Amino acid sequence: MYNILKQQLQYLPGVGPRKAMVLASEVNIKTVGELLLYFPYKYVDRSIIYKINQLNDKMPFVQLKGRITSFSEEGVGRSYRLEAEFSDQTGSIRLVWFQGVKYIKKKLKTNTDYILLGKPTLFNFSYTITHPEMEELSNPNREIEILGLHPVYHTTEKMKRTNISSKFLENLIVGLFKQIDLNTIDETIPSDIRSRYHLMPLAEAIFKTHLPTSMEDLPAAQYRHKFEELFFLQLGILSCVRRRSVKYAGFRFDRVGCFMSSFYREKLPFQLTGAQKRVMQEIRNDLFSGRQMNRLIQGDVGSGKTIIAVMTMLLAADNGFQSCLMAPTEILAEQHFNHVSSLLSNMGLNIALLTGAIKNSRRKTLYEQLKTGEIHIVIGTHALLEDTVSFKNLGCAIIDEQHRFGVEQRSKLWRKNQSPPHILVMTATPIPRTLAMTLYGDLDVSIIDELPPGRKPIQTHHVYENNMNSVYKLVFNQLSLKRQVYIVYPLIKESEKIDLQDLEQGFETFRSVFPNSIIGKIHGQMKEDEKNEIMQRFTSGEIQILLSTTVIEVGVNVPNASLMIIVNADRFGLSQLHQLRGRVGRGADQSYCVLVTKRKLSENTLKRMEVMTTTNDGFLIAEEDLRLRGPGDIEGTRQSGLFINIKYSNLAHDAEILEDARQAAGYLINKDPGHTSSQYLSTWNRLSQLRGETQDYSVIS
Ligand code: ADP
Ligand code: MG
Repeated sequence: MYNILKQQLQYLPGVGPRKAMVLASEVNIKTVGELLLYFPYKYVDRSIIYKINQLNDKMPFVQLKGRITSFSEEGVGRSYRLEAEFSDQTGSIRLVWFQGVKYIKKKLKTNTDYILLGKPTLFNFSYTITHPEMEELSNPNREIEILGLHPVYHTTEKMKRTNISSKFLENLIVGLFKQIDLNTIDETIPSDIRSRYHLMPLAEAIFKTHLPTSMEDLPAAQYRHKFEELFFLQLGILSCVRRRSVKYAGFRFDRVGCFMSSFYREKLPFQLTGAQKRVMQEIRNDLFSGRQMNRLIQGDVGSGKTIIAVMTMLLAADNGFQSCLMAPTEILAEQHFNHVSSLLSNMGLNIALLTGAIKNSRRKTLYEQLKTGEIHIVIGTHALLEDTVSFKNLGCAIIDEQHRFGVEQRSKLWRKNQSPPHILVMTATPIPRTLAMTLYGDLDVSIIDELPPGRKPIQTHHVYENNMNSVYKLVFNQLSLKRQVYIVYPLIKESEKIDLQDLEQGFETFRSVFPNSIIGKIHGQMKEDEKNEIMQRFTSGEIQILLSTTVIEVGVNVPNASLMIIVNADRFGLSQLHQLRGRVGRGADQSYCVLVTKRKLSENTLKRMEVMTTTNDGFLIAEEDLRLRGPGDIEGTRQSGLFINIKYSNLAHDAEILEDARQAAGYLINKDPGHTSSQYLSTWNRLSQLRGETQDYSVIS
């Protein structure tokens, strides 16, 4: 059957091959169906017509209705222009064209009614409109078409040069809707879900989005598009989860053996918090269930996630499996390795470190020992992901600071075994629920919402850079209490040498202000052993003041450090500031964070500083971050590997729609798990179609 929606654009009247090519290359629209999904980004209200005697020069664009009474050509060379007198019953104004005069002269006539759109400017007591948009009122219906709401479409420079203006697209779409039977646009969401969530039919929503009769039409139509987008996203995620659970059995860890029990009895250095106990129980339920675990642990900085990782790995060892812990930086991997090795010393467990810094010969031995199962626990960086790393029986893979990794990396760990290992991912950048449901929608979520006892909230101050003296005073105080200090400088890219100058200068300044203190510096361009040496000297307490770039951002744990100074804090996002601040406040004493900025700040930056000085709650900060920056910029969304580009919805504002969409998707999966019901066939078809075409989201099948 002929389907107009599949028709190539070049065959539409007025389009032709050249325009069709530009539409395809600029905005990826090739067919009529795709064009109908190219929605306006705003609307202009052309319902009001002013009289000439009502004009004032404060008015933005206005519409007038009248006739041209005379033309005249004025000036020569660059000041050459066409002028016309335009009148209605109440007065007259001047129209001016500098460009396209030949065309205008041919097109415009005297003694014909026009509706004009333009911006009036007052000059010598009379009004002029330059380059007005003119619509001839050739028949009585024309006026009705012109008045009312008009869509405005985004056009690129290249489109404009090819005469694809917003007006052109509007006319094209108006023409199409005259031809197309709306019934040819297939519905994608089944009727039971549509009625439950009061969704407008797709065809109607598409029509009303282009050509609303009033602003009241829009919310329901836009709601439908957002719901559609989020619904299919969730349907995709949840069907994946379902397929996974049917296809793969998980290793059953049903034994709490001597590793775990003797550790818990003899080595655990503190009492677990209530939240840690709860999360541990959730993990144990997963491991005992026989299903493969895919769990995300969200816990604010310092909430004690490491110990959860350690105990999970002990359960793996108790059940005869190997496990790995992957961290985003070498410093952190090394720190974890030292910490875990000392926690689990003399237990007969073989623990190894694998990072890019490990030399070749040692590496070869490591690979061998992982393959034979000699190593029980391996801790490392991305180096773990390399194909050369294989295990005897990897039972559990843990990723620390997940937000630093992409989905691709998570799935690489998955494939390390014939049967996938249990996966635990941990993040200290709390993510708002909406983002978690989308980015990590396939994971079960555990939340550690309690800090270990005795922690005092960090006091945060915002200081302008001309007031460094007060900062030095604070440094001096902390040093005299035998505490340590971090000073962090932003580095946009680790390779940018210019940024490093700030750090070098700061280093000189602090050396002259604190001549009797031991000051160290650390940045990404230093050699691994140099970095490690500096970190060790700071951890041991020898270095009192550490100047650094963001290499220390993630996970570093030096409880005696009590002051974090962030220079040029305006260059950091909220989540990153919160992460950095989390490097202090890890012991029982009062800790401080100072945000140093220049004086002139944008409103948005001031708001960020205010959020930081008023709260320590990572979840609140994450919500604010999402609101201030929009979801597109949040770390992790770009490499998320979602099969739909989120276009219509905004995860900061559409949380409710997302909840509904996920619920609806869950309902459909339960109702028709085998994809056998004819009622839902077109929805499943739509899903597989979307999966195939990641870039090209069109809701018409
Ligand atoms: P994060 O969640 O940021 O990774 P860590 O696991 O590094 O936090 O823990 C932060 C600090 O708190 C560490 O020094 C750790 O030993 C300590 N800690 C963790 N859990 C507890 C607890 N239940 N009681 C006391 N201290 C704890
Ligand atoms: Mg950590």
